[in-house]
Amino acid sequence: MENEFHDIDDIPLRVEIQPYMFEPPARAEPKENSEENSETSTSVGDDESRLLNTLWAEGVNVETMTTVPECICCAEIPLIDEIRANSQIECITQHQAFIDNCLNIRVLEVSMYMYIQSQGPLDDNEPINKVYRHIAYRRFVLWIWHHLGSGNRKIIPACVVTKIRSVFPSEQYTGFRYPRPT
Ligand SMILES: [Zn+2]
Repeated sequence: MENEFHDIDDIPLRVEIQPYMFEPPARAEPKENSEENSETSTSVGDDESRLLNTLWAEGVNVETMTTVPECICCAEIPLIDEIRANSQIECITQHQAFIDNCLNIRVLEVSMYMYIQSQGPLDDNEPINKVYRHIAYRRFVLWIWHHLGSGNRKIIPACVVTKIRSVFPSEQYTGFRYPRPT
């Protein structure tokens, strides 16, 4: 049976990262009462005004997100904010470690081989850019929290999602794609 969250199956963390943090829902997702959504570690709560604009991101370039928990800036997550502040940058997406680890196609390519080794070959229908986005999100979580497993759920800030989406855009809209592994 097709798993709705098949693209994140290898993240033992289905309960760690909210899948809809990553991608606009392609199919109806059980957002309302899913266990994964029953709690968040953010303080954004139900501030639906965040869906109307991106002022909460304080000038950082983010897309308007589709759900409230997604509308969080890197400065609102204490651990990320600490790294950001220590590096004297405005946004975590300017951090060289982010650029090297999450946006560099050569780095992501090697991670993809590890992914394939543990998960089996990619589905022919799986857009390659989506795979790269997924791997980039995983690497971001690993960079910040040092593990993908147990513990509190990890929220990926909108600026990070936006940046990764801009580098690995949906093939559906842009027609642009990186080569698939052979
Ligand atoms: Zn940011």
